[in-house]
Amino acid sequence: MKQLHDLMMAYPLTLTHFFERSRRLFAKKTLATRVPGAALFRYTYADFAERTRRLAGALGALGLARGDRVATFGWNSHRHLELYWAVPLSGCVLHTLNIRLAAKDLTYIVNHAEDSVIFADASLWPQLAAILDTLPTVRQVVLMRDTPDARVPAGLPDYEALLAGATPVGSWPELAETDAAGMCYTSGTTGNPKGVVYTHRAMFLHCLAQTMADQFGLSECDTVLHIVPMFHANSWCVPFTSVMVGANQIFAGPNPQPRDICEIVQNEKVTFTGAVPTVWIAVKELCENEGWDISSLRTIVIGGSAAPRTLQQAYETQFGVLMSHAWGMTEMTPLGTVCRLKSYMQEWPEDRRYDVRARVGYASVGVDVRIVDDAGAELPWDGTSMGELQVRGPWVTAGYYDNPESPQRFTPDGWFRTGDVATIDAEGYVQITDRTKDLIKSGGEWISSVDVENLIMAHPKVLEAAVIAVPHPRWVERPLACVVPKPGATLDAAEIIDFLRPKLAKWALPDDVAVIEAVPKTSVGKFDKKVLRERFKDRAARGA
Ligand code: AMP
Repeated sequence: MKQLHDLMMAYPLTLTHFFERSRRLFAKKTLATRVPGAALFRYTYADFAERTRRLAGALGALGLARGDRVATFGWNSHRHLELYWAVPLSGCVLHTLNIRLAAKDLTYIVNHAEDSVIFADASLWPQLAAILDTLPTVRQVVLMRDTPDARVPAGLPDYEALLAGATPVGSWPELAETDAAGMCYTSGTTGNPKGVVYTHRAMFLHCLAQTMADQFGLSECDTVLHIVPMFHANSWCVPFTSVMVGANQIFAGPNPQPRDICEIVQNEKVTFTGAVPTVWIAVKELCENEGWDISSLRTIVIGGSAAPRTLQQAYETQFGVLMSHAWGMTEMTPLGTVCRLKSYMQEWPEDRRYDVRARVGYASVGVDVRIVDDAGAELPWDGTSMGELQVRGPWVTAGYYDNPESPQRFTPDGWFRTGDVATIDAEGYVQITDRTKDLIKSGGEWISSVDVENLIMAHPKVLEAAVIAVPHPRWVERPLACVVPKPGATLDAAEIIDFLRPKLAKWALPDDVAVIEAVPKTSVGKFDKKVLRERFKDRAARGA
């Protein structure tokens, strides 16, 4: 029998290929990080490649072996980028920790992932120091001086010293494309955070897709500003794609503020960036009031939560900047859909064009989407039928890391249940109409209403509590706690908030408390938050 099938090389789709190609082709290109109170730190791709190989040498010297989890706890920076590459290329697994999590979640996540080493920004050290005793698998913390005045406590290795003393690796280990490259935990509606593990293959294909003209269209000509935190779905994977194409890159550094973003975009002539709507609402205000020039941007990707249509219109008409709406999830590496108008839609009247642009776009190549009803039957793409959005594809998770709840998120025929509710129109454009109903998305981060409720219900005077999202002009959504006092008890808002303050991350603390007579219930006795949301839909959100 003559061989006909499988006559192409079994070349593994790993990040190693991107790195080595980029090192050879783009040595002169620039990487930079914002340093508060100082000029941008800048170096070249050649420096980056050399330091990444040194870092890999250091990882070996620290005794890290294939499959070991190496965590990061940091802001966006060139050092974080070095870790993005040195860790997976060494065969270890990059675990990006969310610096905004409350101590209990952080502890859970590090212990669940069994992280061996944490690379942390020095400015964040106090947060980590407070829980280090509860992290038995962590045998080393390495600190990175992210601010000019940052100090490294005695006894802890400093990243730069570690690199200076390391021998650069000469070659990379041979990896399989199914090897784990990174992991990222996401908060769900119930239970503990869940770990998504990215394979090299998933990231390789996802990066390629992000360069497509009808998607992000990332190319060597771009200057990319990374605002989306590198601990949130790998900054939407854009730092990986940017290295792949050899774009100039700027990292927003510690605690970036909207004015920092304006300044970098204007001074560095940034062409591409992305962030949650909250950021763009603030940047718009500054551009209007202070006259920043952001016209170098060819596009801004907006996603993570719904983007107001008026915002998209304002960016295009006032600043000449195209805003592309996108939808994705940590479980999807994260890209699912991007909103680009089809050629014939360009001729449509403005109003109709913005109707389309307010949707999250059509499925990326590589991603299959469908909507299904409660019984699991597929719904038509008619723009009105509404059902759960389900996806599948080579960069969609096949199961959470070591999590018994995993199977519940998949259909019998192997699709991932996103928990989002959507319509799809005849052109294939997806509209997210609702989402896992109980989660609150504040400034791009999830707040689990269940977590907050459980804490409130521990108050001795509280009978029941339900936490819902109310719209907020800056943070998009903020939590409102609806609280029922025990019979005979009286309660005020301050009492509840003071009670929660030591137990919750600052941004997860409700701004407002409504004392109510009873929490409405569904037929099966669950809290009916839909009714509460309707009742409080006009309640003005408090808080800055
Ligand atoms: P995360 O995994 O934290 O990035 O959150 C993913 C979730 O954010 C999705 O399941 C959606 O509910 C929501 N989301 C992401 N992008 C959008 C968008 N463009 N519009 C509305 N919701 C979005």
